[in-house]
Amino acid sequence: MAKTLYIDLEKCRDCKSCHAECSYFYHPFNDGITYLREVAEFTLTCRQCEAAPCIEVCPTDALERQDDGIIRRWNIRCVACNSCSYACPFGTILPELIGYAVSRCDFCHARLNHKDAPVCVDKCTLGAISYGEYEVNEEKNIYRISDHLLVHAISWNKKVLF
Ligand code: SF4
Ligand code: SF4
Repeated sequence: MAKTLYIDLEKCRDCKSCHAECSYFYHPFNDGITYLREVAEFTLTCRQCEAAPCIEVCPTDALERQDDGIIRRWNIRCVACNSCSYACPFGTILPELIGYAVSRCDFCHARLNHKDAPVCVDKCTLGAISYGEYEVNEEKNIYRISDHLLVHAISWNKKVLF
């Protein structure tokens, strides 16, 4: 079984100051974990409102619903005004997830080739990030977000499996 990054979103939400470092040498402020948390929240917490207040309120059309129904924020258009965060009635878009600078995560591809875990795994003081062999388990609230990421979170829509 392939190893993946695993984020416990329930623990993350208890942390008020994420200091999980990233490996981006040329972009030392890259906040990959926050980027992944945002994607996971849109996937698991978002109610995917038909008339989405977050999309309606965005002044720069930075939020778009994808073909699979999941909302995506295009950082390049976002001005980090946080209007979407205030408009969402379900608390999906936590203000700390809306960064102004664009961050990405490549799952420390170069390190994985050398069998090392991603840098953030050791840097998270709450132990919310780990790296290993995980399986989707709906009963335990573990969901797949992408090929390289599984997340533990109480999903709003348990019928959705990825
Ligand atoms: S924070 Fe970004 S995505 Fe949200 S409303 Fe403002 S511009 Fe749009
Ligand atoms: S308002 Fe909140 S719950 Fe509704 S689609 Fe936007 S992010 Fe999702």
